[in-house]
Amino acid sequence: MSPATLPAKYDVLPSPLDYSALAAEELVERIERRKRELKAVILGHNYQRTEIQEVSDYLGDSLGLSQEAASTDADTIVFCGVHFMAETAKVLSPEKRVLMPDLRAGCPMADFVTGTALRNLIDQHPDAVVVAYVNSTAEVKALADICVTSSNAVAIVDTIPRDTPILFVPDKNLADYVAEKTGRDNIIAWEGYCYVHDDMVLDELERAKAKHPEAKVVVHPEARRELLEAADFVTSTSGMVALAEEHDALIFGTERGLVDRMKQRFPEKTMIPLSGAAICGNMKLNTLAKLAWCLDHEEHEVVLPEDVRAAAAASLERMLELSGGWKAPTEEEAELEAAGVRPRGCGCA
Ligand code: SF4
Repeated sequence: MSPATLPAKYDVLPSPLDYSALAAEELVERIERRKRELKAVILGHNYQRTEIQEVSDYLGDSLGLSQEAASTDADTIVFCGVHFMAETAKVLSPEKRVLMPDLRAGCPMADFVTGTALRNLIDQHPDAVVVAYVNSTAEVKALADICVTSSNAVAIVDTIPRDTPILFVPDKNLADYVAEKTGRDNIIAWEGYCYVHDDMVLDELERAKAKHPEAKVVVHPEARRELLEAADFVTSTSGMVALAEEHDALIFGTERGLVDRMKQRFPEKTMIPLSGAAICGNMKLNTLAKLAWCLDHEEHEVVLPEDVRAAAAASLERMLELSGGWKAPTEEEAELEAAGVRPRGCGCA
Protein backbone atom coordinates (compact mmCIF):
# COMPACT_ATOMS: atom_id res chain seq x y z
CA MET A 1 0.00 0.00 0.00
CA SER A 2 1.58 3.35 -1.01
CA PRO A 3 1.66 6.25 1.50
CA ALA A 4 -0.97 8.08 -0.61
CA THR A 5 -3.45 5.23 -0.12
CA LEU A 6 -2.73 4.56 3.54
CA PRO A 7 -5.98 4.58 5.49
CA ALA A 8 -6.70 7.21 8.13
CA LYS A 9 -6.07 5.91 11.63
CA TYR A 10 -8.63 3.24 12.53
CA ASP A 11 -10.49 3.40 9.20
CA VAL A 12 -12.37 0.15 8.69
CA LEU A 13 -10.77 -1.60 5.71
CA PRO A 14 -12.63 -3.90 3.34
CA SER A 15 -10.73 -7.18 3.56
CA PRO A 16 -8.16 -9.05 5.67
CA LEU A 17 -5.75 -8.52 2.76
CA ASP A 18 -5.95 -4.74 3.30
CA TYR A 19 -5.21 -5.25 6.99
CA SER A 20 -2.20 -7.40 6.17
CA ALA A 21 -0.56 -4.33 4.59
CA LEU A 22 -0.55 -2.58 7.99
CA ALA A 23 2.36 -2.79 10.42
CA ALA A 24 2.04 -5.34 13.23
CA GLU A 25 2.09 -2.55 15.86
CA GLU A 26 -0.87 -0.83 14.21
CA LEU A 27 -2.77 -4.10 14.01
CA VAL A 28 -2.18 -4.72 17.71
CA GLU A 29 -3.32 -1.16 18.53
CA ARG A 30 -6.48 -1.62 16.47
CA ILE A 31 -7.17 -5.01 18.05
CA GLU A 32 -6.80 -3.63 21.58
CA ARG A 33 -9.00 -0.64 20.82
CA ARG A 34 -11.81 -2.65 19.20
CA LYS A 35 -11.64 -5.23 21.95
CA ARG A 36 -12.41 -2.52 24.50
CA GLU A 37 -15.17 -1.01 22.35
CA LEU A 38 -16.89 -4.36 21.89
CA LYS A 39 -16.21 -5.57 25.45
CA ALA A 40 -14.65 -8.62 23.89
CA VAL A 41 -12.25 -11.30 25.12
CA ILE A 42 -9.77 -12.95 22.78
CA LEU A 43 -9.16 -16.66 23.32
CA GLY A 44 -5.94 -18.07 21.89
CA HIS A 45 -5.50 -21.82 21.58
CA ASN A 46 -2.12 -23.32 22.52
CA TYR A 47 -1.38 -24.04 18.87
CA GLN A 48 -1.95 -20.49 17.59
CA ARG A 49 0.81 -18.35 16.08
CA THR A 50 2.90 -16.52 18.68
CA GLU A 51 1.62 -13.08 17.62
CA ILE A 52 -1.98 -14.24 18.17
CA GLN A 53 -1.08 -15.68 21.56
CA GLU A 54 0.47 -12.34 22.51
CA VAL A 55 -2.80 -10.42 22.00
CA SER A 56 -4.96 -13.13 23.59
CA ASP A 57 -6.59 -12.57 26.96
CA TYR A 58 -6.59 -16.29 27.70
CA LEU A 59 -4.42 -19.11 26.39
CA GLY A 60 -5.10 -22.82 26.66
CA ASP A 61 -7.07 -25.74 25.28
CA SER A 62 -10.52 -25.31 23.78
CA LEU A 63 -12.60 -26.57 26.68
CA GLY A 64 -10.67 -24.65 29.33
CA LEU A 65 -10.81 -21.49 27.22
CA SER A 66 -14.54 -21.84 26.62
CA GLN A 67 -15.15 -22.37 30.32
CA GLU A 68 -12.98 -19.41 31.20
CA ALA A 69 -14.77 -17.16 28.67
CA ALA A 70 -18.16 -18.26 30.00
CA SER A 71 -17.19 -17.03 33.44
CA THR A 72 -16.31 -13.50 32.22
CA ASP A 73 -18.76 -10.61 31.72
CA ALA A 74 -17.59 -10.06 28.15
CA ASP A 75 -20.25 -9.46 25.49
CA THR A 76 -18.19 -10.99 22.69
CA ILE A 77 -15.79 -13.91 22.54
CA VAL A 78 -13.29 -13.99 19.67
CA PHE A 79 -11.99 -17.55 19.36
CA CYS A 80 -8.60 -17.92 17.69
CA GLY A 81 -8.61 -21.66 17.14
CA VAL A 82 -10.63 -23.94 14.86
CA HIS A 83 -14.37 -24.06 14.20
CA PHE A 84 -15.43 -26.74 16.67
CA MET A 85 -13.71 -24.77 19.44
CA ALA A 86 -15.68 -21.61 18.69
CA GLU A 87 -18.80 -23.78 18.71
CA THR A 88 -17.86 -25.08 22.17
CA ALA A 89 -17.52 -21.49 23.37
CA LYS A 90 -21.02 -20.77 22.01
CA VAL A 91 -22.41 -23.95 23.61
CA LEU A 92 -21.18 -22.78 27.02
CA SER A 93 -21.95 -19.06 26.50
CA PRO A 94 -25.29 -18.88 24.65
CA GLU A 95 -25.84 -15.26 25.66
CA LYS A 96 -22.48 -14.10 24.28
CA ARG A 97 -21.63 -13.43 20.66
CA VAL A 98 -18.83 -15.71 19.39
CA LEU A 99 -16.66 -14.58 16.47
CA MET A 100 -13.92 -16.33 14.48
CA PRO A 101 -11.25 -14.52 12.41
CA ASP A 102 -11.32 -17.15 9.63
CA LEU A 103 -14.24 -19.48 9.03
CA ARG A 104 -12.03 -21.80 6.99
CA ALA A 105 -10.12 -22.72 10.14
CA GLY A 106 -11.78 -26.09 10.57
CA CYS A 107 -10.52 -29.29 12.14
CA PRO A 108 -10.16 -32.21 9.71
CA MET A 109 -10.55 -34.66 12.60
CA ALA A 110 -13.85 -33.13 13.72
CA ASP A 111 -15.04 -33.04 10.10
CA PHE A 112 -14.57 -36.80 9.73
CA VAL A 113 -18.00 -37.39 11.26
CA THR A 114 -21.18 -35.55 10.34
CA GLY A 115 -24.47 -35.60 12.20
CA THR A 116 -26.14 -37.57 9.41
CA ALA A 117 -23.42 -40.22 9.32
CA LEU A 118 -23.49 -40.58 13.10
CA ARG A 119 -27.29 -40.90 13.12
CA ASN A 120 -26.95 -43.77 10.64
CA LEU A 121 -24.45 -45.54 12.88
CA ILE A 122 -26.65 -45.01 15.94
CA ASP A 123 -29.56 -46.57 14.02
CA GLN A 124 -27.40 -49.66 13.46
CA HIS A 125 -26.41 -49.85 17.15
CA PRO A 126 -29.42 -48.58 19.08
CA ASP A 127 -28.16 -50.01 22.40
CA ALA A 128 -24.74 -48.39 22.23
CA VAL A 129 -23.59 -45.44 24.30
CA VAL A 130 -22.24 -42.66 22.08
CA VAL A 131 -18.98 -41.13 23.32
CA ALA A 132 -17.73 -38.02 21.51
CA TYR A 133 -14.20 -36.69 21.86
CA VAL A 134 -14.46 -32.93 22.43
CA ASN A 135 -12.72 -32.48 19.07
CA SER A 136 -16.08 -32.84 17.33
CA THR A 137 -18.76 -30.55 15.94
CA ALA A 138 -21.60 -29.27 18.13
CA GLU A 139 -24.00 -31.37 16.04
CA VAL A 140 -22.04 -34.52 16.89
CA LYS A 141 -21.75 -33.57 20.58
CA ALA A 142 -25.52 -33.05 20.57
CA LEU A 143 -26.04 -36.63 19.37
CA ALA A 144 -23.60 -38.07 21.90
CA ASP A 145 -24.48 -39.36 25.34
CA ILE A 146 -21.28 -37.99 26.81
CA CYS A 147 -18.15 -36.11 25.76
CA VAL A 148 -14.57 -36.95 26.71
CA THR A 149 -11.19 -35.26 26.55
CA SER A 150 -7.94 -37.13 25.98
CA SER A 151 -7.25 -36.61 29.71
CA ASN A 152 -10.44 -38.21 30.98
CA ALA A 153 -11.47 -40.59 28.16
CA VAL A 154 -10.23 -43.77 29.91
CA ALA A 155 -11.81 -42.87 33.26
CA ILE A 156 -15.13 -41.88 31.70
CA VAL A 157 -15.40 -44.93 29.45
CA ASP A 158 -14.66 -47.04 32.55
CA THR A 159 -17.90 -45.75 34.10
CA ILE A 160 -19.99 -47.24 31.26
CA PRO A 161 -21.26 -50.78 32.01
CA ARG A 162 -18.82 -53.27 30.48
CA ASP A 163 -21.43 -55.15 28.47
CA THR A 164 -22.75 -51.96 26.83
CA PRO A 165 -21.30 -51.32 23.38
CA ILE A 166 -19.74 -47.91 22.76
CA LEU A 167 -19.67 -45.83 19.60
CA PHE A 168 -16.54 -43.69 19.91
CA VAL A 169 -16.18 -40.68 17.57
CA PRO A 170 -14.25 -39.31 15.76
CA ASP A 171 -10.67 -40.38 16.68
CA LYS A 172 -9.82 -44.02 15.98
CA ASN A 173 -6.40 -43.74 17.66
CA LEU A 174 -7.84 -42.40 20.90
CA ALA A 175 -10.58 -45.06 20.74
CA ASP A 176 -7.94 -47.77 20.29
CA TYR A 177 -5.95 -46.42 23.25
CA VAL A 178 -9.08 -46.30 25.44
CA ALA A 179 -10.04 -49.86 24.41
CA GLU A 180 -6.59 -51.10 25.37
CA LYS A 181 -6.51 -49.27 28.70
CA THR A 182 -10.03 -50.32 29.71
CA GLY A 183 -9.68 -53.86 28.35
CA ARG A 184 -12.89 -53.48 26.36
CA ASP A 185 -13.56 -55.20 23.05
CA ASN A 186 -16.91 -53.53 22.38
CA ILE A 187 -15.78 -50.07 21.30
CA ILE A 188 -16.83 -49.31 17.74
CA ALA A 189 -14.45 -46.58 16.59
CA TRP A 190 -15.10 -44.01 13.89
CA GLU A 191 -12.32 -44.03 11.31
CA GLY A 192 -11.26 -40.45 11.95
CA TYR A 193 -7.88 -39.13 12.99
CA CYS A 194 -5.85 -35.97 13.53
CA TYR A 195 -3.43 -35.70 10.60
CA VAL A 196 -0.90 -33.88 12.80
CA HIS A 197 -0.62 -36.75 15.29
CA ASP A 198 -1.41 -39.63 12.93
CA ASP A 199 1.35 -38.54 10.50
CA MET A 200 4.10 -38.96 13.10
CA VAL A 201 6.02 -42.15 12.35
CA LEU A 202 8.27 -44.57 14.21
CA ASP A 203 11.34 -43.60 12.14
CA GLU A 204 11.10 -40.02 13.41
CA LEU A 205 10.75 -41.23 16.98
CA GLU A 206 13.80 -43.48 16.64
CA ARG A 207 15.88 -40.73 15.03
CA ALA A 208 14.97 -38.29 17.80
CA LYS A 209 15.85 -40.91 20.42
CA ALA A 210 19.20 -41.67 18.76
CA LYS A 211 20.01 -37.97 18.75
CA HIS A 212 18.89 -37.40 22.36
CA PRO A 213 19.42 -40.74 24.15
CA GLU A 214 19.03 -39.01 27.53
CA ALA A 215 15.50 -37.85 26.68
CA LYS A 216 12.27 -39.64 27.57
CA VAL A 217 9.61 -39.86 24.87
CA VAL A 218 6.07 -38.70 25.55
CA VAL A 219 3.36 -39.22 22.93
CA HIS A 220 -0.24 -37.98 22.72
CA PRO A 221 -2.92 -40.70 22.49
CA GLU A 222 -4.09 -39.25 19.14
CA ALA A 223 -0.94 -40.84 17.65
CA ARG A 224 -0.76 -44.37 16.20
CA ARG A 225 -0.44 -47.41 18.42
CA GLU A 226 3.14 -48.24 17.34
CA LEU A 227 4.27 -44.83 18.57
CA LEU A 228 2.40 -45.23 21.83
CA GLU A 229 4.09 -48.61 22.34
CA ALA A 230 7.54 -47.11 21.72
CA ALA A 231 6.96 -44.15 24.06
CA ASP A 232 8.01 -43.89 27.71
CA PHE A 233 4.78 -42.03 28.48
CA VAL A 234 1.42 -41.66 26.76
CA THR A 235 -0.51 -38.67 27.98
CA SER A 236 -2.51 -35.57 27.14
CA THR A 237 -0.90 -32.15 26.90
CA SER A 238 -1.72 -31.59 30.57
CA GLY A 239 0.30 -34.70 31.37
CA MET A 240 3.06 -33.45 29.06
CA VAL A 241 3.32 -30.19 30.95
CA ALA A 242 3.55 -32.08 34.23
CA LEU A 243 6.30 -34.30 32.77
CA ALA A 244 8.20 -31.26 31.50
CA GLU A 245 8.31 -29.98 35.06
CA GLU A 246 9.75 -33.28 36.30
CA HIS A 247 12.22 -34.19 33.53
CA ASP A 248 15.25 -32.40 32.10
CA ALA A 249 14.98 -33.91 28.61
CA LEU A 250 11.82 -34.85 26.73
CA ILE A 251 10.86 -35.68 23.15
CA PHE A 252 7.26 -34.58 22.52
CA GLY A 253 4.95 -36.45 20.14
CA THR A 254 2.44 -33.63 19.65
CA GLU A 255 1.89 -30.36 17.78
CA ARG A 256 4.90 -28.02 17.58
CA GLY A 257 3.06 -25.15 19.27
CA LEU A 258 3.10 -26.94 22.62
CA VAL A 259 6.76 -27.91 22.26
CA ASP A 260 7.75 -24.32 21.50
CA ARG A 261 5.86 -23.17 24.58
CA MET A 262 7.69 -25.76 26.69
CA LYS A 263 11.01 -24.49 25.34
CA GLN A 264 10.06 -20.96 26.37
CA ARG A 265 8.89 -22.13 29.76
CA PHE A 266 11.94 -24.32 30.46
CA PRO A 267 14.81 -22.77 28.46
CA GLU A 268 17.43 -24.68 30.46
CA LYS A 269 15.92 -28.08 29.55
CA THR A 270 16.06 -30.22 26.39
CA MET A 271 12.56 -30.02 24.89
CA ILE A 272 12.50 -31.64 21.44
CA PRO A 273 9.66 -32.16 18.95
CA LEU A 274 9.35 -35.78 17.84
CA SER A 275 8.51 -34.48 14.37
CA GLY A 276 9.39 -31.07 12.97
CA ALA A 277 6.43 -31.49 10.62
CA ALA A 278 3.84 -31.82 13.37
CA ILE A 279 2.22 -28.48 12.64
CA CYS A 280 -1.52 -27.92 12.36
CA GLY A 281 -1.97 -25.69 9.30
CA ASN A 282 -5.65 -25.20 10.17
CA MET A 283 -4.75 -23.61 13.48
CA LYS A 284 -2.24 -21.34 11.80
CA LEU A 285 -4.86 -19.88 9.42
CA ASN A 286 -5.62 -17.18 11.96
CA THR A 287 -3.42 -14.09 11.60
CA LEU A 288 -3.26 -10.68 13.27
CA ALA A 289 -4.67 -9.09 10.09
CA LYS A 290 -7.69 -11.43 10.10
CA LEU A 291 -8.20 -10.83 13.81
CA ALA A 292 -8.21 -7.04 13.31
CA TRP A 293 -10.63 -7.42 10.38
CA CYS A 294 -12.85 -9.72 12.47
CA LEU A 295 -13.12 -7.16 15.28
CA ASP A 296 -13.72 -4.19 12.94
CA HIS A 297 -16.39 -6.02 10.92
CA GLU A 298 -17.80 -8.06 13.83
CA GLU A 299 -17.55 -11.16 11.68
CA HIS A 300 -17.62 -14.22 11.42
CA GLU A 301 -20.29 -14.99 13.94
CA VAL A 302 -20.75 -18.62 15.01
CA VAL A 303 -24.44 -19.42 15.42
CA LEU A 304 -26.00 -22.67 16.62
CA PRO A 305 -29.63 -23.80 16.62
CA GLU A 306 -30.77 -23.73 20.28
CA ASP A 307 -31.76 -27.43 20.34
CA VAL A 308 -28.29 -28.43 19.10
CA ARG A 309 -26.58 -26.08 21.55
CA ALA A 310 -28.58 -27.35 24.53
CA ALA A 311 -28.03 -31.03 23.66
CA ALA A 312 -24.29 -30.47 23.12
CA ALA A 313 -24.15 -28.65 26.48
CA ALA A 314 -25.81 -31.65 28.16
CA SER A 315 -23.13 -34.03 26.78
CA LEU A 316 -20.37 -31.73 28.01
CA GLU A 317 -22.03 -31.29 31.41
CA ARG A 318 -22.31 -35.07 31.85
CA MET A 319 -18.57 -35.30 31.28
CA LEU A 320 -17.83 -32.46 33.71
CA GLU A 321 -20.00 -34.03 36.40
CA LEU A 322 -18.12 -37.33 36.08
CA SER A 323 -14.70 -35.71 36.01
CA GLY A 324 -15.27 -33.36 38.92
CA GLY A 325 -16.28 -30.31 36.90
CA TRP A 326 -14.26 -27.27 35.95
CA LYS A 327 -12.31 -25.57 38.67
CA ALA A 328 -10.59 -22.20 38.77
CA PRO A 329 -6.82 -22.57 38.21
CA THR A 330 -4.67 -23.21 41.28
CA GLU A 331 -1.89 -20.75 42.08
CA GLU A 332 0.61 -22.97 40.29
CA GLU A 333 -1.68 -23.33 37.26
CA ALA A 334 -2.22 -19.57 37.17
CA GLU A 335 1.55 -19.08 37.15
CA LEU A 336 1.92 -21.51 34.24
CA GLU A 337 -0.94 -19.76 32.48
CA ALA A 338 0.86 -16.45 32.85
CA ALA A 339 3.87 -18.11 31.25
CA GLY A 340 1.67 -19.24 28.38
CA VAL A 341 1.26 -22.87 29.41
CA ARG A 342 -1.96 -24.37 30.73
CA PRO A 343 -1.49 -27.54 32.72
CA ARG A 344 -5.13 -28.60 32.35
CA GLY A 345 -4.94 -29.01 28.60
CA CYS A 346 -6.29 -32.09 26.91
CA GLY A 347 -4.54 -32.10 23.59
CA CYS A 348 -5.90 -30.02 20.80
CA ALA A 349 -9.15 -29.95 22.68
S1 SF4 B 1 -4.15 -30.45 15.69
FE1 SF4 B 1 -5.43 -32.12 14.86
S2 SF4 B 1 -7.23 -32.21 16.16
FE2 SF4 B 1 -6.24 -30.18 16.50
S3 SF4 B 1 -7.26 -28.76 15.04
FE3 SF4 B 1 -5.44 -29.57 14.03
S4 SF4 B 1 -6.23 -31.35 12.90
FE4 SF4 B 1 -7.77 -30.86 14.44
